[in-house]
Amino acid sequence: MSRFDQLLTEKAFLLADGATGTNLFDMGLQTGDAPEPWNLAHPGRIEKLHQGFIDAGSDIILTNSFGGNFHRLKLHGHESQVRELNEAAAAIARRIAGKAAKPVVVAGSMGPTGELFAPLGALTPESATAVFTEQALALEAGGADVLWIETLSSKEEVEAALTGASATQLPVVCTLSFDTNGSTMMGLSPGDFARLSHSLTIKPHAYGANCGLGPAETVCGILNLAAAARHGDILVAKGNCGIPKYADGVISYAGEPELMARYACIAFDAGARVIGGCCGTTFDHVRAMREALDTHIRSASRPDAATVVAELGEISEGARCQLEGKLNADTIAVGASTMGASTVGARRRPARGRRRRAP
Ligand SMILES: [Zn+2]
Repeated sequence: MSRFDQLLTEKAFLLADGATGTNLFDMGLQTGDAPEPWNLAHPGRIEKLHQGFIDAGSDIILTNSFGGNFHRLKLHGHESQVRELNEAAAAIARRIAGKAAKPVVVAGSMGPTGELFAPLGALTPESATAVFTEQALALEAGGADVLWIETLSSKEEVEAALTGASATQLPVVCTLSFDTNGSTMMGLSPGDFARLSHSLTIKPHAYGANCGLGPAETVCGILNLAAAARHGDILVAKGNCGIPKYADGVISYAGEPELMARYACIAFDAGARVIGGCCGTTFDHVRAMREALDTHIRSASRPDAATVVAELGEISEGARCQLEGKLNADTIAVGASTMGASTVGARRRPARGRRRRAP
């Protein structure tokens, strides 16, 4: 049994970590730079990141490899180093996890390629699968316990990533970013994703929502996933630390630790068994989440939309309609969000692949 499965059998919930990218910016990473070369150039800083999250109470730490696939590394001229950068990422996390006083799961982070599938782009199922396979094998070789595919948005990329990950012996987690009026930017709703997860030949071990438009929207994603989930499905919530705000070329996250603590408990009540933070989530946020979850008594019922809004903030019209079972999210116009034009998610679907920074 994998370390991940073992912990899931022992604990009601597992606490994942917080942000990688935004915390590395605080350690000196410059906007536009790839974080993955730091696995070789500054391993001590990556160790510090992992250690901080373990000290804050994380049961799961994600490797610094979100953009470690061929296409993303090619943007920075590092495409020949997929193997060594990912292997180093997993080895650093393994080393720090191994020193912890409790079992800590090393999750090998795998983000999107940033490319679009044909006919919109050049990716084919075969080429995308090969890219994910290369990264997955390197993360396994470095000592990852589980592969953590995150921030995806299209069905094709989910299938390619899961197929690529299946070249290893590791369990696989797959989470999407429901950042466009309750669905992914490629139009997948949580319900669509739950049904997809059940229908795939190669199924994820656990699935869920990450990144996106903040804690309230992430919890809606979990509620909508839970509505379509099967008994025993393991749901994962890793929401951003507040609603992302875009100003002067910089995205910032202003959620307080108290907000993330409330989010963690409500995500658990909504049905998530693995809970963490994404962009903007610091050690202090994770510590607050740990303390809150450890003393939280699960609510007898799932939170409704009114509770989510009151505790965590506004939700998009698309997410609300899904919660109320009124509409198929696919029929809702993209951009009908009530969340205001200043939020990142209000940006329209790009003509070309949107490249995401490390979470
Ligand atoms: Zn994020």
